[in-house]
Amino acid sequence: MAFDSLADRLQEAFKKLRGKGKLTENDIKEAMREVRLALLEADVNFKVVKTFVKNVSEKATGSEVLESLTPGQQVVKIVNEELTALMGGSEAKLSFDSSITAFMLVGLQGAGKTTMAGKLALHLRKRNRKPLLVAADIYRPAAIKQLQIVGKQIDIPVFAMGDKVSPVDIAKASMEYARKEGCDVVLIDTAGRLHIDETLMDELKGIKTAVRPMETLLVVDAMTGQDAVNVAQSFDDALNLTGVILTKLDGDTRGGAALSIREVTGKPIKFSGVGEKMSDLEVFHPERMASRILGMGDVLTLIEQAQSSIDEKEARELGSKMMSKEFNYEDYLKAFEQMQKLGPLNKIMEMLPGMNSKEMKGVNLEDGEKEMLKTKSIIHSMTQKERRNPKLLEHASRKKRIAKGAGVTIQDVNKVIKGFDNMKKMMKQMGGMQKGGKKGLFGK
Ligand code: GDP
Repeated sequence: MAFDSLADRLQEAFKKLRGKGKLTENDIKEAMREVRLALLEADVNFKVVKTFVKNVSEKATGSEVLESLTPGQQVVKIVNEELTALMGGSEAKLSFDSSITAFMLVGLQGAGKTTMAGKLALHLRKRNRKPLLVAADIYRPAAIKQLQIVGKQIDIPVFAMGDKVSPVDIAKASMEYARKEGCDVVLIDTAGRLHIDETLMDELKGIKTAVRPMETLLVVDAMTGQDAVNVAQSFDDALNLTGVILTKLDGDTRGGAALSIREVTGKPIKFSGVGEKMSDLEVFHPERMASRILGMGDVLTLIEQAQSSIDEKEARELGSKMMSKEFNYEDYLKAFEQMQKLGPLNKIMEMLPGMNSKEMKGVNLEDGEKEMLKTKSIIHSMTQKERRNPKLLEHASRKKRIAKGAGVTIQDVNKVIKGFDNMKKMMKQMGGMQKGGKKGLFGK
């Protein structure tokens, strides 16, 4: 999980402060020493660390903090605000042209450019844009093919002219093609190298001059820490970037790149890549990222994901069905499926407050996923009649048949039945509460 050890260290440092009723300047100094070490270990640029610690210390030793009733919390609040500011303060939105908008994606090989081009195209289409992907990497074997595969996967057109035409000409021609095809955003996937080299930069400058993109976005691998910052600096010097996209934030990156890039280059992080799937893209919200780093969760992103992957009407209908007498295994199955649409359990947990704590890390989430799959296969082994009429499952012979069908034991089937009964009971109570006028879980 991203930022794990940084989050642990920071939380550890603040736990000590929280436990105290009154703080002295010395307490703050001590905590700041730990914050400083934690940031350096997370591979944050040393100059950034220095300024950060200085800012927090100044604010935290003010009398309003030391004399407040909850000084520990005040310090955490200041750290949260400063972390947010460090990452740019607020969301940096994309800029669009009034006619066809070009976005150029640049970066080193393997950073995740091609994948990101697809993710961005999908993101833009969800926002009613008509994107066109452009294959302008003519050097890496199979780069064009890779983009075509990505395009096919998400059903977005890909413009390619093979590897014999210059990238500048490809980019120019793609704008014309977009006009003809009615596309309004052109996403240019450019070539990468293993290291920065002048020929590449010249070519990228050429594309930039030719299509005048609204955004020149650098894709960098968050796992490379400080290196990502150096890469960003060089690309910015040559191309004057408009923003940065951090990929592979789903890995156990330490945080150095996310926390240093903005401060060092002055360029905002606009998106992050959080997995290999096309939907694994997040808009970069500095304040939410700061909360995640401080173990305060990111419920807002979770809610947004729920809204985009789950049909609200369906969820509402399911909700009221769950609270009614008719709640059956078909609905139970649907509820599981909706849960799974949100993504793997570990990603969901990461966004819940307190779930990033040390204690939670011992919990095996893979077991949870397996359990969910098992439950689904047991429900699938029921007949439609049984699913609709849970009472039928009281017969031992039916349970035996279901267990056999799902390749599990009768105890497993009993466990699912028990889980279902408990849920039904709980839901009935909630339904009752709602009727009593209290605000319920699913209703308005
Ligand atoms: P390019 O050379 O910059 O175009 O990089 P690619 O798009 O080909 O990506 C390189 C590798 O990184 C591929 O195996 C991708 O699946 C993987 N990748 C890209 N973005 C992410 C991400 O956000 N998370 C993870 N885990 N893998 C990623």
